[in-house]
Amino acid sequence: MSSDLSSDDVRQLRSLFLRELLEGLRRARAAHAQLTHAGGDDKALQELRGFFHRVAGTAASVQLTMLGRLCAACEGAADLVVESAVPVSRTALNVFNDGLKGVEAVLESEGAVESEPGLPPMPQHPEPSPVLTLDGRAWRVLVIDDDPFSARLLDNVLRSAGLASTTCSDPSRAFDVVQEEMPDLILLDVVMPEQDGFELCRRIRTHPALQLTPIIFVTRKGDVEQRVRGLQMGGNDYVAKPFEPQELVARVRSHLQRLAELREMAIRDGLTRCFNSKYFKSRLETEIIRARRYGSELTLGILDVDHFKRINDTFGHPAGDAVLAHLASLLTASVRSTDVVARYGGEEFGIMLIEAAVPEAAIIINRLRERIARHQFVVPALAGGDLNVSCTVSIGLASLRPGEEMGPILARSDAALLEAKHNGRNQVRVAP
Ligand code: GH3
Ligand code: MG
Ligand code: MG
Repeated sequence: MSSDLSSDDVRQLRSLFLRELLEGLRRARAAHAQLTHAGGDDKALQELRGFFHRVAGTAASVQLTMLGRLCAACEGAADLVVESAVPVSRTALNVFNDGLKGVEAVLESEGAVESEPGLPPMPQHPEPSPVLTLDGRAWRVLVIDDDPFSARLLDNVLRSAGLASTTCSDPSRAFDVVQEEMPDLILLDVVMPEQDGFELCRRIRTHPALQLTPIIFVTRKGDVEQRVRGLQMGGNDYVAKPFEPQELVARVRSHLQRLAELREMAIRDGLTRCFNSKYFKSRLETEIIRARRYGSELTLGILDVDHFKRINDTFGHPAGDAVLAHLASLLTASVRSTDVVARYGGEEFGIMLIEAAVPEAAIIINRLRERIARHQFVVPALAGGDLNVSCTVSIGLASLRPGEEMGPILARSDAALLEAKHNGRNQVRVAP
């Protein structure tokens, strides 16, 4: 996770912001005219207030801090009018007008004046290289924000940082969308009509598959009480609007990094750091389906250390542990990077040889067996210091038969392993 938001990205965001601003200004102007001529129209007042609210929430993120403050003041004025429930006064209209003039001035100084038929299309710089998960797809972030403008801004920031992003601006559908998308991380607005972000967060956390999904609250109202409540409801972090794009991306990345570590831990064995048996079985199922679909070969090996109990009994359990850890490294280093090595049981390992049939697989595995037999494992001695230990292994191999399921192929390699043991150990046996 290395690429950061470049100044190009920030420029592009700013350009997106200005386009939206120009669009919004047209509607806000119309609403202002309606208020001026028709008096207390609620819809027009809400439209105007909404416009100031959105700009106040996002302007600082594209380095237009003063514009953000101006619009926050206008939003405050609009709130007063709404609360007092009296017709809009001349003074309030003048305040709103000043706000709109401020917006126009910014658009003009940025070369985006209203008389133009429209802004030139956004500069399309090449898609950044995606930031990938363990299984090689782009990280998926879901943005839930009832304000489409703010959602698009967040979406744009995330895409610029190489993340796959989807948005949902309909709070009533948000929970369904979460379940459909199963995102890796959720950016969640706090203040939404019908369903507030806290309540949605609580619901998300009741879903068994969404316990570890990082949830970052994004809101303009960044007071301590809300921050605390967000964390109590199961949120992981908090970003206040107007957000700093770089900071947002850094936070999202750090949570995804942590998630990747958690996911990695869940599929690894603690002692040997190779895959655990749970992962091995689920991967074997996937590989069987793949081999069947593409008509490719797949060979499964089960390896068991010979007389391992003696190693424990003679040199102590820590020495036995060290042998297992070194053996796992040796196995992993001896097969192709596409092959899969896992700790299958106590001193048993599973090896999946992808796209290899028996004659080839038997040669590879026999070479591996010889290498192990020659190897001197450096392990801790009970009396302190190190000592060298050697061991041998027995291996049962079975290649996938047409139409064969996981259970039978596992049973056949197990049977071959047993035969290797009965036949004197330190050998490879191939299932018929
Ligand atoms: P065989 O050649 O028939 O496989 O003989 P063996 O002694 O290797 O087999 P057995 O199943 O009798 O003993 C396996 C031993 O492996 C017993 C168990 O205590 C030990 N073992 C299992 N897991 C670990 C571990 O994590 N660390 C250590 N040090 N020993 C382990
Ligand atoms: Mg053994
Ligand atoms: Mg065993």
